[in-house]
Amino acid sequence: MIEVRCVGCGAAVPGGEGRSHPYMWSAAGCWERYCSLEEWKSCLSGEESIGIVQDLVDSFAVQHATNTDRRNVQSVAVHLMSLCSGLERGATGRQRRVRIGRWVGHDYPVLEPRPAGYPVTVSDVAAAPAAMRPSTIERLAQTSWSAWSAHHDTVRAWLDDLG
Ligand SMILES: [Zn+2]
Repeated sequence: MIEVRCVGCGAAVPGGEGRSHPYMWSAAGCWERYCSLEEWKSCLSGEESIGIVQDLVDSFAVQHATNTDRRNVQSVAVHLMSLCSGLERGATGRQRRVRIGRWVGHDYPVLEPRPAGYPVTVSDVAAAPAAMRPSTIERLAQTSWSAWSAHHDTVRAWLDDLG
C-alpha cells in the first residue's frame, strides 16, 4: 500500500483518490479516517461526550490549516478558541459549541507560521481501540493546542474580546 503524508496534520495515511472536506483540505486518506469515527461518535452519550467530540472536531480543524480560503482561516481561528476555552478556561463542550456559532460571525487573520507537525493526529484516534479513544482525544486536543504556541496570546486576546 502506498502511503502519503497528509498536507495538514502530517500523518502517514493510505494514498489514493477520494474526497476531502471542501475547505479543510487534507489527504483523502486522512479525511476517510476522520469520517470512520462517525459511528463510534454516534454511540457516545452524556454531557461529557459533547466535550470529547468537540475536542476531536477542534483538533482536526486546527491541524488542517491548509489554505487561505476565508472559511478555512475562520475555522482554524474559532477551533483554536474552542480548544483554548476548554483547556485553559474550563468551558464545557456544550458552551464551546454554542460560542463557536457566535465566533464564526467574525473575520480573522491567517495565523503564520502554522505548526510544523503534530505528535498526535486523528489517525492515532482511529487506530486506538474504542475504550482508549477518549484519552487519545484528550492528548490530541492538548498537543494540538500546544503546537500552536506561537499564536496562543493572539487566540487568548480574541477570547478576551469575544468571550
Ligand atoms: Zn490530516
